Amino acid sequence: MSETPLVLRVAVPSPLHTLFDYLPAPDTDPGTYRPGVRLRVPFGRGRRVGVLVARVEGAQVDPSRLRAVEAVLDDAPLLDEPLLELGRWAAAYYLAPPGEVLAQLLPPSLRDGAAQSGRDRAFYRLSDEGRGVAGVPGARALRQQAVWQVLARADAALSQDQLLTRLEGFDAPALRNALRALMARGWVSRCEAPVSGVSGVKDVGGGYATGPELNPAQSEAVEALVSARGGYAPFLLEGVTGSGKTEVYLRAIAGTLGAGRQALVLVPEIALTPQLVARFEARFGARVVLLHSGMADGARLESWRRAREGRASVVIGTRSAVFAPLAAPGLIVVDEEHDPSYKQQEGFRYHARDVAIWRARQLGIPVVLGSATPSLETLRRVGQGSYRRLALPRRATGASLPRIEVLDIRRRPMKGGLSDVLVESARAHLLAGGQVLFFLNRRGYAPALLCHACGWAASCTACDAHMTVHRALRRLRCHHCGAERPLPARCPACGGELMHAGEGTEQIEDALRGLFPEFTIERIDRDTTRRRGALEERLESVRSGRAHILVGTQMLAKGHDFPDMSLVGVIDADQGLFSSDFRASERLAQLLVQVAGRAGRGARPGEVLIQTHCPEHPLLHTLVTQGYDAFARQLLTERERAGLPPYGALALLRAEAKDGALAEALLNEAAHAAAAAPGVSVLGPVPAPMARRAGRERRQLLLQAAERAPLRQALRHALAVIEASPDARRVRWSVDVDPVEMF
Ligand code: ADP
Ligand code: ZN
Ligand code: ZN
Repeated sequence: MSETPLVLRVAVPSPLHTLFDYLPAPDTDPGTYRPGVRLRVPFGRGRRVGVLVARVEGAQVDPSRLRAVEAVLDDAPLLDEPLLELGRWAAAYYLAPPGEVLAQLLPPSLRDGAAQSGRDRAFYRLSDEGRGVAGVPGARALRQQAVWQVLARADAALSQDQLLTRLEGFDAPALRNALRALMARGWVSRCEAPVSGVSGVKDVGGGYATGPELNPAQSEAVEALVSARGGYAPFLLEGVTGSGKTEVYLRAIAGTLGAGRQALVLVPEIALTPQLVARFEARFGARVVLLHSGMADGARLESWRRAREGRASVVIGTRSAVFAPLAAPGLIVVDEEHDPSYKQQEGFRYHARDVAIWRARQLGIPVVLGSATPSLETLRRVGQGSYRRLALPRRATGASLPRIEVLDIRRRPMKGGLSDVLVESARAHLLAGGQVLFFLNRRGYAPALLCHACGWAASCTACDAHMTVHRALRRLRCHHCGAERPLPARCPACGGELMHAGEGTEQIEDALRGLFPEFTIERIDRDTTRRRGALEERLESVRSGRAHILVGTQMLAKGHDFPDMSLVGVIDADQGLFSSDFRASERLAQLLVQVAGRAGRGARPGEVLIQTHCPEHPLLHTLVTQGYDAFARQLLTERERAGLPPYGALALLRAEAKDGALAEALLNEAAHAAAAAPGVSVLGPVPAPMARRAGRERRQLLLQAAERAPLRQALRHALAVIEASPDARRVRWSVDVDPVEMF
């Protein structure tokens, strides 16, 4: 036995940033180990399910020290070569453990090693090679020969049950053995549909319900997208709110489907946009599937399979759907590309928009990023000429954009957070038959509870944070760790009288009920929409005109269409102006423009009133007087001066532990290692903006570089040191490349 043994390189879910080598299971055919199949492997004292990523001749370690695979879980690769490559790239780019990345590429029900489908869902057919041979040679291969003959006569792929009924003297194990041997020879392939292979997606037959006639700007955009087919081409579709971006996606997708290809559509949060999904389903019918984490595992697996086999033409999903398998990819759409929910904030911290761009390039297909308020990252790419901008400057229905006005509320009489001017405008709109929306990005009754006598404040025992008053529930809640306690009646320190500081949506609703008893009010925030279906009911109540007043958080900033909404009141613009996070003003502007975009979409002209204590704030002023593009240009200049993204790259190393000194020590080691890379500035470790959360002390280290290569180099140094450090076991740590939140 002088041959070098076959070594299997496996991505096993674990926090370690490495792949693991195994030997094949004893007495298995080497042919069954095709990259992309799942393997059950021994790991430490337990066992785990990993994905085979490569076969190597000769390991880095002595093969006699390697353990053997326990079982091969799939007959055919679950992940195709492009997806494996996507996973490799993402693991390297985000410095994420490859096992966690590849687990993320699978639907949850396949991560734990469950059979990917009932046996009846697997079908077998001869491969081209198997069809080319005259039969299976050898006297010992009689069973294989019998199976080969049945398959050669069949005109479609056959399931195991179908095969058993056509074969004599076979039991199920014998059939499985024969099939496995034939597959190892490469003569039989397994598929999940009885049709002979997936060859693109069939056009539904031109039967799409057509939709409105496009205006010239829309036509031009659709034309550009359709003619870009067949190669990588990134676009920004920048269209004001209500300009008909969705209609552009629908037409471009119809073209994609007509060419026998699939479209992948990413949206920030499916639950928040039931209207959007309904429009896709109305247009494309049953060929639309959804993929998001709110789905039951079984349904999600079914969507995943249909996408993979080409039985679905349009895949609509949230962030994680960017990894959906596609039989015949033709177009990727990222709707509301600026939305922060595209960034995963734990574990494998990828950004779905950025992954979508990479994937489109890999697959050689167009990708369109749509937004009324594009991210600065995307605007910079447009400026550099690497993305093409398609503009929809006007509302599609002919409605004009709302008039936006800043309300200086300094020294004005206020009631429950509402100034007299805002209240009187709301009254005028309501009496004229319009609807009014009040936006405040803070749920609960009040963000703090204070003692009027001694200054005591209700704070969370586990976090550096005030507890939020939830008056209807008579509870105090920490919005950072979920801790709760009853609302005290008097100050626990001195017995003095307690008062609420600041306002949340619950308080605004209360105040509005007092002011407008004759109008129906709906509140939409995380607290009022926990029950399944509650969000849809409340949205419908507003859309149908039953409710006249809507109060809510950023959940209202998403693409809802309320035709009679004529006034939007922004209760507090100041929150976003004073944050330590350099992205806060960008986020604030996006929220303001998006929520303003809910006004005046129908026949009534829209008006937006923004309450602030800083009407002269330069960014707010630019936004209101010159619009989002001017605002974004101003912000880009500031970012360039500071070397902040999209100029220069950032990474954040976070560490938290019961003992802050431990977290700090670990980051100190990392800082030394990172500083060895030239061209990288290392800031910290410093306490996180919220230095304690859920009972843990939190520290962070910021790495900043003009170029990505040195940044990655520095991170690799830092990771090597952290992984080798004995402290790492007692500290919860993570790497965040291109962080969007700085806490
Ligand atoms: P966006 O996605 O930019 O917010 P939508 O595609 O939702 O815009 O369009 C906003 C409204 O305008 C919808 O009610 C839509 O049906 C309508 N609309 C879109 N395109 C046209 C068009 N070409 N002519 C008339 N109405 C249109
Ligand atoms: Zn007190
Ligand atoms: Zn807390």
